[in-house]
Amino acid sequence: EGTVVVAARVAPLGADHVLLLVEDISQARRVEEIRRDFLANVSHELKTPVGGISLLAEALLDAYDDPEAVQRFAARIGVESRRLSSLVKDIVELSRLQGADVVKDPTVVDVGAASEDAAERYRLLAEEHGIDVAVQAETDCTVWGDRDLVTTAIANLIGNAIAYSDGGTRVGVATRRRPGAVIEVAVTDQGLGIAPEEQQRIFERFYRVDSARSRATGGTGLGLSIVKHVVENHGGTVAVWSQVGRGSTFTISLPAAPSEGAAAGATAPDQ
Ligand code: ADP
Repeated sequence: EGTVVVAARVAPLGADHVLLLVEDISQARRVEEIRRDFLANVSHELKTPVGGISLLAEALLDAYDDPEAVQRFAARIGVESRRLSSLVKDIVELSRLQGADVVKDPTVVDVGAASEDAAERYRLLAEEHGIDVAVQAETDCTVWGDRDLVTTAIANLIGNAIAYSDGGTRVGVATRRRPGAVIEVAVTDQGLGIAPEEQQRIFERFYRVDSARSRATGGTGLGLSIVKHVVENHGGTVAVWSQVGRGSTFTISLPAAPSEGAAAGATAPDQ
C-alpha cells in the first residue's frame, strides 16, 4: 500500500555487463518525513511559550510602578514557564519512545499497582477539581514490560479524564483480565466527550480538539501520542469510546505476562 521509494545504483561490470542495485528505502523515507514534521511542530510549539515569556518580561519591566500589573505579568510568566517545562518533558519522553521499537529490560509489571500509582500522581489535582478518582483492580493482572512507562500511560489517561471533566463528576480506573490472556485498563470519565470525527485524530502528535481548553488545562497535545507509543511498544492497543456531553472511556489492552506455571522453565517472550 502507498508509494514505494527505491534507490538505484548502476555500476559497470566488465565490458558488456552492468550491475543494477535497487534498494527499497520507503521505510527510511517515511521515518525521515515523520522526524521532519515532528521537528517542525516542536519548534512551532516551543516558540509560543518562549515568545510569551519574553513579551511578558518586557511588559514587566515597563510596569514597575503598577504593582497590580506586576503581579499579573509575573503570574503569567509562571504559567507559560510551567507549560514550557511540561512540553519539554513530553517531547523528550516521546522522542525517546519513537526511537525504540521494543521495551528495554522488561520485567513483570503489576498493572493494578501501576494504576494505583498513576492515580496517586493526580490525587491533588483531582481534589482541586472536585473530581473523585476510584481505582478498581482485579488481582493477577500482570504484563511484561516497563513499569514506569505503563504507569505514565495510565497516568496520562487519568490526567486527561480530570482535565476534560467538570467538578462533581467521577473518574473510574478499572484493571481486569480478559479472555485470551489480555490485560485491560479502562479509564472512564463523565466529562466533555469527543466527537466521532475527532476520535482517531486525538492520538496524533500535537492534535487538540479545543486548543484553548487544552492550553488552559496545561495540555501539550502529546499525552495521547505517548500513550499510543507506550502501548504499541508493549505489543498492545488503545481504543476510545466516547459520546459528546456524556463522557469517554479509554481502554488500554496489553498481552498478559505468562503465568508463573507457564513461565517455569520457559524464557521471557522475545522482545
Ligand atoms: P492534551 O495535552 O491537549 O490533553 P492529548 O494528546 O492528551 O493532549 O489529548 C489530545 C486531545 O484529545 C485533547 O486536547 C482533548 O481535546 C482530547 N481529549 C483527550 N482525552 C480526553 C477526555 N478524556 N475527554 C475529552 N477529550 C479528551
